[in-house]
Amino acid sequence: MGSAAEPLKVIIIGAGIGGLATASFVRQQGHHVEVYESSKFAKELGAAIHIPPNAHSLLRKIGIDPIAIGANPCTRLTMFASSGFKINSIDTSAGRKWEFPWVLGHRVKLHDALKEAATSAGATLHLSKSATRIDPHQGIVEFDDGTSANGDDSKPFSSGKSAFRFLVPREAVLSDPQTKHYASTDGEMVIVYHADRRLVMYPTSDNSILNFVCIHPEEETASKATGDWNNDATKEMLLDVYRDFHQDFKSILNKSNAESLKIWKLLDMTPLESWSDEKLALLGDAAHPFLPHQGQGGAVAIEDAAALGVLLEAGLRPEDVPDRLSLYEEIRRPRANKLQEYTRLAGEDLKPGQAQKFDVRDYTNYNFDHDEFDNSTKRLKEWKETK
Ligand SMILES: Cc1cc2nc3c(=O)[nH]c(=O)nc-3n(C[C@H](O)[C@H](O)[C@H](O)COP(=O)(O)OP(=O)(O)OC[C@H]3O[C@@H](n4cnc5c(N)ncnc54)[C@H](O)[C@@H]3O)c2cc1C
Repeated sequence: MGSAAEPLKVIIIGAGIGGLATASFVRQQGHHVEVYESSKFAKELGAAIHIPPNAHSLLRKIGIDPIAIGANPCTRLTMFASSGFKINSIDTSAGRKWEFPWVLGHRVKLHDALKEAATSAGATLHLSKSATRIDPHQGIVEFDDGTSANGDDSKPFSSGKSAFRFLVPREAVLSDPQTKHYASTDGEMVIVYHADRRLVMYPTSDNSILNFVCIHPEEETASKATGDWNNDATKEMLLDVYRDFHQDFKSILNKSNAESLKIWKLLDMTPLESWSDEKLALLGDAAHPFLPHQGQGGAVAIEDAAALGVLLEAGLRPEDVPDRLSLYEEIRRPRANKLQEYTRLAGEDLKPGQAQKFDVRDYTNYNFDHDEFDNSTKRLKEWKETK
């Protein structure tokens, strides 16, 4: 960190969604920002991502308009049983209105926009730099090509599920008379439930591509899936796991192609005892990894970024940084943990005879009705009044 009244020197490890968003928010306070990314190209996955209102409003604050980069509003949520029976269909644009809508974006485009926002705001991005040791007291990060033991006390464990993911051109589903009505409404998300597995399909990239996430018991694909997001899978595996689904859904799955079909094991993690230590703070998945059942993991990482941007305000003295990072943890931990808990509930298996376990609307208000920039601003003001 720099000397008093000078801008701080902020080092961010990882140019993912959370790291790049943090770079933009912290640059808005005038601090020097260096981002170190272990991969060579800082390349994102070819898959879609929900951008819920709680993240959409924050992205706008750092100059990113998700709609301008092809994210389309989520207009309808339709749920089926695996037999083909329609359980419910909800017009998501009716009822409660959010200042910025729930939109469905493409990860690569979002990541590119975050990179552009951070670097044009003055953050420096270093690629192929893997952090191996961080000294939270000195604020020193070491980089090395070799491995290093770390002091992290998190314990990843299996959630019992794995997931296929893939993209299909929407036209492929629309041009088949058997499947076209599942994709005929712009912005419609379709969820098909079976007791222990489900299929989630939604459009992205101006409604031109359909994104699929197919969550199922991990033992059925154990030979292929690991915690890595990029294991290749085959259509045969996919169709075998979903063999008891109605023929319409199997016809949709049959349109997957080998190039984009991947599988990964959904890992959960015991909560960390602490997210901050002196000059070090964790954010995003490093602090609170998310299962994909609610599409909130990236959004919560962006909320962390906004909180750090508010709390590391311009003119902050280096000796005051540890207190601000403790406050960051105090503000962010309860919300992140609650969202993780909702996400676990959303992913639970159905009981016998139960058509649908989870109504997305149950938790929508808590998830969406939150502006972390405003919340952290208010909490910082209250905190200062106690000093
Ligand atoms: C298939 C899939 C679908 C998802 N869908 C959604 C969704 O719809 N909505 C949503 O909100 N969330 C979604 N998520 C979750 C979301 O992607 C994550 O929660 C989010 O990416 C977390 O951001 P992050 O910056 O913490 O981590 P990441 O985006 O994973 O970024 C971490 C970065 O750090 C780098 N790195 C790691 N170690 C080091 C090191 N030692 N040194 C330097 N760099 C390092 C990595 O290379 C990576 O670039 C999904 C996740 C997956 C896998």
